Amino acid sequence: MTPPPTPRQDVPHGPHNRQGADFDFDKARAALAGLPGNGLNIAHSAVDRHAEGVRRDHVAIRWIGPTGTPADLTYRQLGESTNRFANVLRQLGVGSGEKVFTLLGRDPAQYITALGTLKLGAMFCPLFSVFGPEPIRSRMLAGEAAVLVTSRRQYERKIAPMRPSLPGLAHVIIADDDRGAPPSTESFWSLLDASSDVCPVAATRPETPALLHFTSGTTGIPKGVIHTHDAVVAHYASAVRALDLGPEDVFWCTADPGWITGTCYGIIAPLVMGATLLADSAEFDAVRWCRLLQDHQVTVWYTSPTAIRMMMRLGDEVIRGHDYRRLRFIASVGEPLNAEAVTWGEQVFGTPLHDNWWQTETGSIMIANQASMQPMPGSMGKPLPGIEAAVVERKRGGGIEILDTPGCRGELALRVGWPSMFQGYLNDRERYERCFAQGWYLSGDMVRRDADGWYWFVGRADDAIKSAGHLIGPTEIERVLLAHPAVADAGVFGVPDPIIHETVKAVVVPKPGTVADEALRRELHAHARRILGPAIAPREIAFRDRLPKTLSGKIMRRLLRAQELGLPQGDLSSLDPNL
Ligand code: ATP
Ligand code: MG
Repeated sequence: MTPPPTPRQDVPHGPHNRQGADFDFDKARAALAGLPGNGLNIAHSAVDRHAEGVRRDHVAIRWIGPTGTPADLTYRQLGESTNRFANVLRQLGVGSGEKVFTLLGRDPAQYITALGTLKLGAMFCPLFSVFGPEPIRSRMLAGEAAVLVTSRRQYERKIAPMRPSLPGLAHVIIADDDRGAPPSTESFWSLLDASSDVCPVAATRPETPALLHFTSGTTGIPKGVIHTHDAVVAHYASAVRALDLGPEDVFWCTADPGWITGTCYGIIAPLVMGATLLADSAEFDAVRWCRLLQDHQVTVWYTSPTAIRMMMRLGDEVIRGHDYRRLRFIASVGEPLNAEAVTWGEQVFGTPLHDNWWQTETGSIMIANQASMQPMPGSMGKPLPGIEAAVVERKRGGGIEILDTPGCRGELALRVGWPSMFQGYLNDRERYERCFAQGWYLSGDMVRRDADGWYWFVGRADDAIKSAGHLIGPTEIERVLLAHPAVADAGVFGVPDPIIHETVKAVVVPKPGTVADEALRRELHAHARRILGPAIAPREIAFRDRLPKTLSGKIMRRLLRAQELGLPQGDLSSLDPNL
């Protein structure tokens, strides 16, 4: 087994920003060139370029299996396995453009399937392995899945009983096939062994569809989002600018590949960079995570505010007892990262947390506390080079107005044309078209931009609370509650009111060991009123042990509201059943 690259002991904490502040899409595209006729293929950029070059013996993937034992795959080995898988698909009759789904966690077969599928020119669509049968079925039907790669357990429990209702699903391939594959399925490693390890990469173009991802379903029924091979240009550029990633890094993205972060930054970006990616097959465990950071000498870590807040809840002593000298850059995505978490990171890990913002539709990080910047605690950062952002207001009857005053608040819009911009919602052209106006993509997220150009997340347009003529973003209130030392988590939503339209209600998760009583409630009311003013501070505060969250760790405010108000719960397919 090859040890991972050992960063030098004297590597300073903090960003290295190796490629300078002027690294942009053109430079990234030029670095990825190499296919004939200006072709572009994510698997070529991420694997073959290195498998055939000087980095062929560098560790591409360090996988931590269920027993905790690491196993390494070099770029050359990954190149051969993905060639084999592309040949398997070809022999099964899978054509370019057809869709290969996975229902796997962070398993070697996940990485080989993703990159082998892209190499063939087919589309890759990962699903969360914790989905129940119905969310799996509806996504595979909508996405016209031709192939599914999954585990024996998943197949027997979820897929086999509903297989007759998925007539388009021609092949099911079982990844853990040591006991042989069940009837009507094929065995992943046997197929791989029987096929050639030579495979020319498909002649895909930048505009060829490559990835299908479903959104988190935070605000409604999840949407299928389509991305092309050109997205890799943005994965590469943003990995340099927002994650400070370089070829000698050991990079750990903790997201599940069923969420777009887990594919674009958990698979593609670190490999494009020629770095080593850490893939941990197990689920969150704060202490084990600290040990992984230490033992595998992680240098760059990309995680979520939920994980950070769960670590904060445990107390500093638990987290501090490890050696983080190699860890030099930490980034976070998915939800607002409160200012306290940024500074807490600096205290316990020796380097601050860098929040960044993007969504399934944007395909890569758009706005970030960039490697070249001193992070601004509580802000999601500034647009990456090549990304033009604006704060806009939708006009009645169509069209938008661009707001330009310091401190302006409105919807975050992005100028059309960046490489990873989504190319459609699955089977919903009309909805796609509604996302654009006057050459801008409208994100559905409300933000504030201050006089220095920092963007501050206010809330989702769908979650906005309208109270006595104010438009209130729940995030602003949650942020204030999170700043109180007794609060571990908080979710805020609007309660209908006959006079002022809506009042603000907060549900607070107290820190362990805190007594959730009247005195604490009064104290939180006073704290919120002091900072937010009485018009915006929550009228009601309730306590709970946990908040409903999506599998990607986002608070489902629509569900929290429905539960608190006794309303129908709506689509629950993305709800994290462990919470
Ligand atoms: P759906 O569109 O189905 O409701 P979703 O929007 O949660 O689900 P994703 O595309 O996974 O699905 O998440 C993107 C959203 O996550 C963003 O639009 C934003 O609301 C939120 N988000 C991402 N990063 C940040 C951040 N740094 N700060 C605040 N919010 C963030
Ligand atoms: Mg969304």
